[in-house]
Amino acid sequence: MPPLHFDLAVWLTLAAVFFTSMPWLVNLWFRRGYARYLLQPLARAHSVYRSRHGRWAVFVALHAVNIAILGTCIWVGCQLQLAGIGNLRTGAFGPWEALLLVPQVLLVLLAFDAQFYWVHRTAHRHPVLFRLLHREHHADRYPDAWSSMYQHPLDFFLATAMPMAWGVLLPVHEAAWWVALISANYINLAGHAGVEVTRRTPGLLAPNGIAAMLDPQRAGVSRWFNAVTHHDLHHQRYTVNYGLYFTIWDRIMGTLAPDSDAVYREAAGRTATPVTPGTTSG
Ligand SMILES: [Zn+2]
Ligand SMILES: [Zn+2]
Repeated sequence: MPPLHFDLAVWLTLAAVFFTSMPWLVNLWFRRGYARYLLQPLARAHSVYRSRHGRWAVFVALHAVNIAILGTCIWVGCQLQLAGIGNLRTGAFGPWEALLLVPQVLLVLLAFDAQFYWVHRTAHRHPVLFRLLHREHHADRYPDAWSSMYQHPLDFFLATAMPMAWGVLLPVHEAAWWVALISANYINLAGHAGVEVTRRTPGLLAPNGIAAMLDPQRAGVSRWFNAVTHHDLHHQRYTVNYGLYFTIWDRIMGTLAPDSDAVYREAAGRTATPVTPGTTSG
């Protein structure tokens, strides 16, 4: 059965499986396997995950509700498409579609990023909105993969999940849509990992990791893609680096931390040194 015809229950299950298994795997792989590459090793050694300590009920509840929101938004997108409102092309995937796959995936992610940037930035700029909607997500100043779903449900819906419903209005092939959807969720999750391993697997699974591989020095096109350091700096400084998938809006609007690229290069330089997984020295 093609994904567009999946029932709501299937999407809820898939979202639950992804966002309960992947944070665990990403933390295990990134943070245990490459512990010496932690972006904030000293701070993390003394930091407490405020989202979890003494508030497991809230943590689990927010995780579950946001998974439900995500699964529902994807299902709504499918229903829009099946109702003839969506613009996804569902025909055969030929050479022409293969040629256009990358630009189409980028188009979807650019649309997602525009909504994320402006909702996120607005939530930071207005004290009442910040207190009501976004402060909870910043409980973890040095996040790990579990922090990606630790958000107020309305904040998560408006910034992250809603585009996964209306995105079917974009004129892209269905294949590009699903690749973009998986990438978006993976970038959100891995972007909170706290380890800059975009030049290694599994970072290469996401477009920002591929960009980093093509342009390791972040001198050209890869500067326009987000990196783990980008969002890590946001969690520490609050008023910079609002984008999630790209740095484009931050660059245009002057909200990019001036040392973003330098911090990335420093972190990526460390990860360029081969290390045996499990080594924690350094
Ligand atoms: Zn975050
Ligand atoms: Zn924020």
